[in-house]
Amino acid sequence: MTIEPIRDQLRRPIRDLRISVTDRCNFRCIYCMPKEIFGDDYKFLPKNDQLTVDEICTVARIFASLGVKKIRITGGEPLLRRDLPEIVGRLSRLEGIEDVGLTTNGLLLKQYAQPLFDQGLRRLNISLDALEPELFAYMNGRGIEPGIILDNIIYAREVGFQVKVNMVVQKGVNDREILPMAAYFKQLGITLCFIEFMDVGNDNAWSIEQVVTKQEIYDRLSAGDELEPLEPHYYGEVAQRYRYKDGAAEIGFITSVSESFCSTCTRARLSSEGKFYTCLFASRGFDLRELLRGGASEEEILSAIRGVWEKREDRYSDERTQQRASQRTKINMSYIGG
Ligand code: SAM
Ligand code: SF4
Ligand code: SF4
Repeated sequence: MTIEPIRDQLRRPIRDLRISVTDRCNFRCIYCMPKEIFGDDYKFLPKNDQLTVDEICTVARIFASLGVKKIRITGGEPLLRRDLPEIVGRLSRLEGIEDVGLTTNGLLLKQYAQPLFDQGLRRLNISLDALEPELFAYMNGRGIEPGIILDNIIYAREVGFQVKVNMVVQKGVNDREILPMAAYFKQLGITLCFIEFMDVGNDNAWSIEQVVTKQEIYDRLSAGDELEPLEPHYYGEVAQRYRYKDGAAEIGFITSVSESFCSTCTRARLSSEGKFYTCLFASRGFDLRELLRGGASEEEILSAIRGVWEKREDRYSDERTQQRASQRTKINMSYIGG
């Protein structure tokens, strides 16, 4: 059945759903969950407040009936949820869902890669910000060695996954790793995606001076390698893609700060406690768990989601430099899901 997706106030259809399955994480990345703030006494969501597998699948099925075709599972660290393979399997089998992907820091992949593959997952984005052991250990806030993640990347590929690597670049912190990371993943034939450091949440002490733009990264890479742009795979694709002219691998850029892409943003977000957000930089979400647990029918939930999306006007990245936008209270990335 072809579904005509619902559209928001800027005529943007709903196409993607990013589901955060937990707000917890085994890392404390300096740009996401700095350990000074996410310390031992930090109050994460109680387990009962998180959506169950059934609740996640019900909501996802309703989103699919409104036009969602792609789902990305994220967090926090999604591999911390023991029922993740079941979640993945059930989401992959939903009618109308063409693609399910997972974003992870990769630490627990030895344990989870095979069960996730067996449940039908095929695409993994693994985050890694540096190859230099001391720098990576500092950036992940937990002293984890990059060698563990690199081994797990290779292992996931052996299991059969299409793997991409995400690197958040922070000026003066890990920008010296741009070329070593590019060379390393080029020789492995793995796509490396550079993400501009974003002002998500209010806890990562973001400043524009710490952003290394796509153009700066591109200039550094193209001094040594010839790159050619690739057409987007689909409408609203977030990463700008390039290929090395010698054909060895692809490179991606997520340019939320320097070249915003709000005009084609088709992404809805679901937090692990069931709040529905229409933007990564939203201040408030719509509580779907209350409806789910309050006995609302699927039609009522569908009509609530439709109502929220049809009112959507978000375009935070377009407005970032305006004072009103930058002073907004935002939700942390580990909670809303990256
Ligand atoms: N824990 C998983 C991981 O790190 O891959 C999934 C959740 S994480 C929030 C999703 C993605 O968001 C990661 O690739 C991470 O590097 C990125 N991210 C987190 N904080 C960011 C920030 N302030 N700016 C840009 N990207 C960020
Ligand atoms: Fe955890 Fe991912 Fe955030 Fe790092 S980026 S702290 S791994 S949620
Ligand atoms: Fe979409 Fe909001 Fe990001 Fe713009 S700022 S691309 S509307 S999530």
